[in-house]
This record gives sequence, structure tokens and C-alpha cells, in this order.
Amino acid sequence: MNVQSESLAPSQRAANFTSRDHGLFIEGRFVAGAGGRLEVFDPSTGEAIGTIADATANEVDAAVTSAHAAFRDGRWSGLPPVARERILLRLADLVETHAEELARIETIDQGKSIHVSRLLDIGFSVNVIRYVAGLATKLTGSSLDVSIPLPPGARYTAYTRREPLGVVAAIAPWNFPLMIGLWKAAPALAAGCTVVLKPSEMTSLSALRLAELASEAGIPAGVLNVITGRGPVAGATLAAHPLVAKISFTGSTATGKKLGMAALERLARFTLELGGKNPAIFLEDAPLDKAIPGAIMGGFLNSGQVCAASSRLYVARKIYEPFLEGLRASVDRMNIGPGLDETAQISPLVSAAHRDKVVSHIAKAAEDGARVVTGGRAIDRPGYFVAPAIIADASENLAISRDEVFGPVVTVTPFDDVEEAVNLANDTDFGLTASLWTNDLAKTMEIVPRINAGTVWVNSHNVLDANMPFGGFKQSGIGRDFGPDWLHAYTETKSVCIAY
Ligand code: NAD
Repeated sequence: MNVQSESLAPSQRAANFTSRDHGLFIEGRFVAGAGGRLEVFDPSTGEAIGTIADATANEVDAAVTSAHAAFRDGRWSGLPPVARERILLRLADLVETHAEELARIETIDQGKSIHVSRLLDIGFSVNVIRYVAGLATKLTGSSLDVSIPLPPGARYTAYTRREPLGVVAAIAPWNFPLMIGLWKAAPALAAGCTVVLKPSEMTSLSALRLAELASEAGIPAGVLNVITGRGPVAGATLAAHPLVAKISFTGSTATGKKLGMAALERLARFTLELGGKNPAIFLEDAPLDKAIPGAIMGGFLNSGQVCAASSRLYVARKIYEPFLEGLRASVDRMNIGPGLDETAQISPLVSAAHRDKVVSHIAKAAEDGARVVTGGRAIDRPGYFVAPAIIADASENLAISRDEVFGPVVTVTPFDDVEEAVNLANDTDFGLTASLWTNDLAKTMEIVPRINAGTVWVNSHNVLDANMPFGGFKQSGIGRDFGPDWLHAYTETKSVCIAY
């Protein structure tokens, strides 16, 4: 087991952890992995710093079998809910105690700003674990009055109970590795399920550290397994495994569709949190001193690698020019640097391939007649940096307006009236989030119900809370994370009917 020396500073522990050769966490211990090794790159330098295991089909099977045995013998599902709650609260405390180390692991592995890692990746993870821990003791069914007429004179009573599903495949993306891994794994555990967590092959390290902390918190062996490896191999084997009762997935729409099909093949349950191409609408009364920082927070948080990012900005014509000029000035002032640089506001993208994809999207938009107001080129330094970009005059049918680019780039488009703004906002295959910027209450109440998105923020963007359901309309997904009913997605409802 990769036991970290608690006497070291968090920065040293993170440096040691990220530069190791990691194994797979199966049945409560690390095994080396018999398959190939995948290199771990530091996005701020482009250098290979360590390796992870590329799990084989046999290793995936071992992890699922371990989780299945742990479910069947009740070592977790059979605990009183208050015991699961206590262990999960202990895990939250351990994540909080190791917050700085975990934040640094996330920044070194994913590239993101250390502030984002501290606040969101780790801070929100702690909130999420505590929130679902509380829900573990609040699963309820109903007592049902029934009117069953047969046989004559018989009397019945009925009730429902919620029972954990079994083994959950928790498959997570690379943009918020630990946080989103926990959005999948933590509610499953709270409900009494057992879990095989598969982080992205690009950012697996925080999940491996989580496995250690989970053991330390008292989560029994086999209840939380972590396998690393390539999506189409380890991920696909996991999703297709007959002992997996549910796939809880966050990632791209293309992969989500494949996993939905794999689940339907055997009618496994699934929750899909997928991509977005999210609009922000700025009405003419939107004060620029709030609207522009809001557009920066919405569009450029984590260098735009956010499913909820506002990548399409629709601005009332009356304020369009000052908005565009103000946004350009703010974007040009953003400090670009490694995630560990406390002053950096734009950090590197996750990989060289992703950087190249983002840059070519922007170049294609320019070729197709859109105007690159600023940024959009790879920065000539080691690492995967892209200068934050603003695109104007992009027609709505261009790829830059329709596809999820997942980088530091926004399009800015004027509109003439509310009707046009709503139509533009909804003209997308996606429906994850949207925001509306105005102080006009009547217009707010008119527009919000007309926007086809799972979350609509008013005068903010990219703010989440564990008590506020999150998920997509249309091709942004099926199901919701968060909220008081979160655990329902990890349970079956059983009706019990008693004749007496
Ligand atoms: P991705 O779909 O490429 O990969 C996500 C995960 O699926 C990874 O662990 C990957 O290894 C695995 N995977 C890939 N192919 C697979 C297959 N055939 N079978 C099984 N597993 C497979 O997504 P990504 O590039 O890691 O993440 C970015 C995407 O995630 C963006 O589209 C973003 O919008 C989306 N996302 C959505 C939310 C949300 O809550 N809706 C949150 C964050 C990210």
C-alpha cells in the first residue's frame, strides 16, 4: 500500500505521490497490474512524471467480483445506515485533513489552478461526502393503503422499501477527477452499494489516493475498488460486466451513448451526465461590472474545461460593443501560468492532444469567417497552454457555435429581442446549463421556464451545491446528481404487500 508519510509537508507528499508507478486498488489493497503502463504527464511542463496501470479485462473482472462479493455478504449494505454515515463522515474528515495534498495532486495531474483545486475539487468533494453521508440515514419508503378485492374478505397492507442496487461502475472524466468521481461513488456508497471507480486515464491519481483514505476511514475491503486504464478497454469491460448493476457515468456525450447502449443490453441502470454547449444571455439592463466577471467565471473557469461552462454568450445589441470590448480587456489581462502558480488565472489544458484540438477548433472558426477577437493560439512554452480566446461574428451553424470545445474560448453574439435570445440559447443539441443576466424580475420569470437546460442560473454561472439537482436536458444526459433524492438513483423500490 502507498502509505504516505504524515510527517512530510503536503507539497512533498503530493510530489512523491504523483511521481510513482501506481497499481490498481482491488479488494482493499494495491496490486501492481499485469497489463501495460500508461504515462502520467504534468500539463504545465509536458514531462512524464509517473505511471498508472492499464487494467486488463481480468483485472477489471477481479475488481467487479470483489465488489460483488462485498455486496452479497452484506459487509457494507448490511451495516446500520448510521454506521455507513459515520464511516463516510470519517472519510470526509480525512479528505479535509489532506486537502492541500489532494489539491496539489489534482493540479499536478490535471493542470488546473491550485485555487480551483482547493475550492472546488477538494472543498466541494468534502461537502458532497458529508451531504450523502447524511442521506444514508434518511432513505425512506411509504406506507400504502390498498384496495385489493381478492379473495373476498381478504385484508392487505403494503409498504415500499428502497434497497441498494448492487455493484456500481463509477466512470469519471478528467476535468474534475476526484470531485466528479465522488459524485458517482459517494451516493452509491451511502445507499449501500459497492463500487468500482474508474477515473480517466489522463487523471487517475486523486482516485488512487482516495482509495487509501477510504481504507483508513474504515470502508471495508472490496466495497470501493479503483481501476485505472484506457476507456475503450478497462472502461468498456467494466460497463459491459454482467455483475455491474448500474453505470454512473460523467463524460462526453459520445461515450455516454455507448455506455447507455451497453447498459440497455442487460437492462442495467444508468445515470449519464454528459457534455454541454451552454448559453449565457445578457439582457440590456445587465450591469457590465457584474456581467463581464460573470462571463469570465462562466467561460474560463478551469480554462474552459467545465461541462457547465458558458461558451456561447448572447448579448443585447444595446450593450454588445461595450460588453465585447470589456470582455476582451479582461481576458487579455488574465495571467497565464502553471496551476501551482498562485497568481495564474489560465492554466494549461489537460493534454497535448486536447490543446491541439482546441486550437484547431478556433483556427477552423477563423477559416469559416468568424472573427478571433483575441487569443486562441498555443503558447510557445513547455506545457499545454492556450491563450484564452473570444470569437465574434460566428454564424450559428459553425462547429465553434455548436460543438463542445472544452477549452478557453467563448463566442459572443448580439440579439435584438428576448424571443431571438431564447431561440438562440435553445438552438443546440445540448441542455446542461444556462444563465440569464438581468435585474428585470418580470423578464426573468418569463425567460427561465423557456430555457431548455437542467440548471438555469440568474446573475451567476458555474455555481453548484450538493442540495441542488444537477444534470442535463436533451443530449446533456439522463438523470440527476445531487439533491435530497440523490440516493434514489442507487436503489430499487420494492413493494411489499402483506395479506392478513
Ligand atoms: P470521455 O467520455 O472521453 O471519458 C470519460 C470517462 O469514460 C473516462 O474515464 C474514460 O476513460 C471513459 N471511457 C472512454 N471511452 C469509454 C468506453 N468506450 N467505455 C467505457 N468507458 C469509456 O470524457 P472526458 O473527455 O474524460 O471528459 C470530458 C467530457 O465530460 C466533456 O464532454 C464534458 O462536458 C463532460 N462532463 C460532463 C459533466 C456533467 O456533469 N454533465 C461534468 C464534467 C464533464
